[in-house]
Amino acid sequence: MTTAQGTAATPSLKDKVSLVTGSTSGIGLGVARALAAAGSAVVLNGFGDPDEIDAAENAIAEEFGVPVTYSGADMSKPEDIEEMFKLVLGEFGTIDVLVNNAGIQHVEPLETFPVAKWDAILAINLSSAFHTTRLALPGMVEKGWGRIINVASAHGLIASPFKSAYVAAKHGMVGLTKVTALETAEKGITCNAICPGYVYTPLVEKQIGEQAEAHGIPREDVIRNVLLAGQPNKRFATVEELGGIAVFLTSEAATSITGTTISADGGWTAH
Ligand code: NAD
Repeated sequence: MTTAQGTAATPSLKDKVSLVTGSTSGIGLGVARALAAAGSAVVLNGFGDPDEIDAAENAIAEEFGVPVTYSGADMSKPEDIEEMFKLVLGEFGTIDVLVNNAGIQHVEPLETFPVAKWDAILAINLSSAFHTTRLALPGMVEKGWGRIINVASAHGLIASPFKSAYVAAKHGMVGLTKVTALETAEKGITCNAICPGYVYTPLVEKQIGEQAEAHGIPREDVIRNVLLAGQPNKRFATVEELGGIAVFLTSEAATSITGTTISADGGWTAH
């Protein structure tokens, strides 16, 4: 079926604007590229080398012929998030697709887990989604259309030791997803969480290095015997796969999907 939103499962996001937090690398960049490929203007956000961010912006604009802009807002700062919304709404007038993806990780036992790391992880991985969602909703409600996609994690459904702040934040993200869905279900808005297992990105590269050092074992052993030990498919997911799931969630075929989690974990949470 071809409709104003493209075919049922592959939408046209022409005339739509997508804001993807934490999209200067990894999953966020993959999702931003996939939304742009579906026709959406995109707003990138995150940190990194300014030349590399410029290059990512230009590559998306040239490859997919869509407007692209960038905000360096720090997702741990509510005032930065408000400024980012002013910038985006000033430039585009709307945010139709909001992807809450910015996230950091820290792995350490509870007894020594630094309080500052706990606060930062909760602020970036969870509270930022509360702030962006509140700011995006009025425009979505006015239009009667909006898609909110929260990038949670398999750790939003199950726990691992030494990841207290991350697991707490990702479980919180799943809870926020459900509440957002319940409050918006009659307004043409959907909100869902994607729960990836391990995806090979700079965040995971950092974990591999840290765990190899902590356990005194080679990187290959960390990958196979620590990270992918619980994943039946024994491989990392790709950022392109994650982008495809996000695009599906914006499609007409997904209109009735709200308040749920989509696991992309190679069977990890099926255990
Ligand atoms: P990444 O490190 O490659 O990317 C993180 C992005 O967030 C970057 O663009 C970074 O600049 C941005 N960011 C970090 N702190 C920020 C801040 N204060 N303000 C604004 N932007 C900030 O990581 P990734 O692996 O692509 O992770 C993206 C999301 O996916 C995270 O929420 C992560 O928890 C989640 N996730 C990742 C995996 C995985 O295996 N990689 C698995 C499950 C969930």
